[in-house]
Amino acid sequence: MSEDFYDVLGVSSDASTEEIKQAYRKKATQYHPDVSDDPDAEEKFKKIQKAKQILTDEEKRQAYDQMGHDRYEQAEKHGFDAGDVGGAGGMGGGPFGGMGGGMGGSMGGGGGLGDLFEQVFGGGGGGGRRRPRKGRDLRTELEIDLEEAYEGAEKQFTVERPEACEVCHGEGHPPEADAETCPECQGRGQVTQVQQTPLGRVQQTTTCPRCDGEGTLYSETCSECRGEGYVRTTATLSVEVPAGIQEGQTLRMEGEGAPSPEGGAHGDLLIDVSVRDHEDFEREGADLYYRLPVSFPQATFGDTVEVPTLDGAAEFDIPDGTQSGETFRLEGKGMPRLRGRGYGDLYVQVQVVTPERLNEEQREALEDFAEAGGDEIEIKDGFFEKIKRAF
Ligand SMILES: [Zn+2]
Ligand SMILES: [Zn+2]
Repeated sequence: MSEDFYDVLGVSSDASTEEIKQAYRKKATQYHPDVSDDPDAEEKFKKIQKAKQILTDEEKRQAYDQMGHDRYEQAEKHGFDAGDVGGAGGMGGGPFGGMGGGMGGSMGGGGGLGDLFEQVFGGGGGGGRRRPRKGRDLRTELEIDLEEAYEGAEKQFTVERPEACEVCHGEGHPPEADAETCPECQGRGQVTQVQQTPLGRVQQTTTCPRCDGEGTLYSETCSECRGEGYVRTTATLSVEVPAGIQEGQTLRMEGEGAPSPEGGAHGDLLIDVSVRDHEDFEREGADLYYRLPVSFPQATFGDTVEVPTLDGAAEFDIPDGTQSGETFRLEGKGMPRLRGRGYGDLYVQVQVVTPERLNEEQREALEDFAEAGGDEIEIKDGFFEKIKRAF
């Protein structure tokens, strides 16, 4: 079905490691996706890399030679078992026979074989068994006005984030660099530590620190990104802020986070939204609060005034005899709720403003008012004294 690794590189089956590396360099330059016009360049380039990785690793090459191309690929996909290697007749030892016949083989198989399997098993490098880790999620902050939270808005912002290095395609090494299986983890990309505790053996598996989980070490690192595989860039993005968003809520932009170190999907970008204070309104959920200053006569006689809303000014009737601090509700004049689930209310709290200065006419009128109150006589003196002192 698929091409033999020796054919992929165009070398004979008894080629030396040096010859294989040379052939790889030539092919890699030819098919590197950055330079090749071939529509299948990426596919071919991957095959070349894979072929080189297997054939320049002594143990993997040995297993490959013994099993042949198709069986090796199958075994890599489904797991190696004792039937796969060394089976002269291969009776029952096919890639799918592992469950039955293979089982016994590996049980009594002795340590030597086991080691080989582990090394071959882990080193596949993109065999597709393990899904590549997603890139990291990144976080940023975005501040918007209350008006924008009311209407919804498309906001542009910049974010610092790593992006795959263009020179090495995020690989961290030039395409022609030599690869060797990481000796620390034998190509598994993970290391397992076993600790003896009073409760028994505790096994902990972590990403291999030497190869960063890649399983492979390279002879050269990319000079552009110093082997990181990514460079820091400032990206300008634009996000749709939905109407009704609240302080502290987070928007998620899928795939706008950090690139995956293993060629998997990008992480997401999380945007923590904060809403600037507004000079007129306070907000509580979908409701808004507004303080309406009114004069004593307005509160006494009632009046029709305009109050601001986020949807333009609205008429508001102050009932006669309104007390300072009384609150009225304007239905549906608050903030929209997320996902179009209606609007909150606007609460108008009336605040009767006591005049700090009075002109002569006002003072006389107030004095008359107080006098006309009759039983206010008691406090009349103090009241007037205070006014007089103020003048
Ligand atoms: Zn690079
Ligand atoms: Zn390693």
